[in-house]
Amino acid sequence: MSSFVCSVCHEPHSGVPLGYRLAFPADRYPVGAVRFERNEELVRAADDRFILANIELPISRGPQERFVWTCWISLSHESYDRMQRLWDRSDRADQESAFGYVSSRLPTYEPSTFALKSRVHTRPVGVRPWVELEPTHHPLAVEQRDGIGDDRIAALYHFYEARASGETRQK
Ligand SMILES: [Zn+2]
Repeated sequence: MSSFVCSVCHEPHSGVPLGYRLAFPADRYPVGAVRFERNEELVRAADDRFILANIELPISRGPQERFVWTCWISLSHESYDRMQRLWDRSDRADQESAFGYVSSRLPTYEPSTFALKSRVHTRPVGVRPWVELEPTHHPLAVEQRDGIGDDRIAALYHFYEARASGETRQK
């Protein structure tokens, strides 16, 4: 949670979320045609393998704080099987990171965050893995490197607010 004067609406906000979690990208599969199997952060869907992991961005005004996108990363079968095999082991964080593609389209980023290359790093049991993006010029990769500003945190807050009230209006 965070409080600041908003660069979008110029009002003070408090309790602005410092992260969002993306739903599983089920819309890419035909309805009812695919069996999903979930084991904590690991999901199989048809021939695809995914892990739910955190893209963490240092917050520019206080880099000890993090803004967190919890989203879906696709893994090779080999990496997925290894992650699953070591999932409950106390030394799982010692394993090599796994290559993966970002499979969530995070709102407001242009171009899309879909298929950005990354490495997934496991952490101790009970702690969600973190994602190291390939150090490109993509805005998300730049934010992971240089930090996310209050203006961006405000823009995301307003994005989700507008979407929530839009859904309410449609009832
Ligand atoms: Zn605002």
